[in-house]
Amino acid sequence: MEDTIFDKILAGAIPSDRVYEDDHVLAFRDVSPQAPVHILVIPKVKAASFTELKDRDEEEIGRFFKRAALVADELGLSDEGYRIVINHGKNGQQTVAYLHAHILGGRQMSWPPG
Ligand code: 5GP
Repeated sequence: MEDTIFDKILAGAIPSDRVYEDDHVLAFRDVSPQAPVHILVIPKVKAASFTELKDRDEEEIGRFFKRAALVADELGLSDEGYRIVINHGKNGQQTVAYLHAHILGGRQMSWPPG
């Protein structure tokens, strides 16, 4: 698998504004925020995309989502609400081939998404 910008962020080769890190996940601010709070959460064991989770250990997947929920809590988003988004593939408009969950908060979201 080719290195992506998120591999480089994880390795520390490219700077990022980290908001949470443990042995399993890294969360950092999106460089082009689409909401007052816009965080990206990535697993440290790389998956290129959401669809690869079919082959992953359920505990690992659960841990990823649990950490994302904790990050949203720690950023004070849980009471007012937030949106969590995972884009997959061309139609999903995924632009970075490293699985990531967007946490978007701090404003009212609309539906349907674009
Ligand atoms: P996708 O479209 O793949 O779901 O989302 C990729 C996200 O990565 C975009 O929201 C984009 O702004 C963000 N992004 C791209 N390059 C960088 C970067 O170098 N640093 C950070 N922090 N975010 C990035």
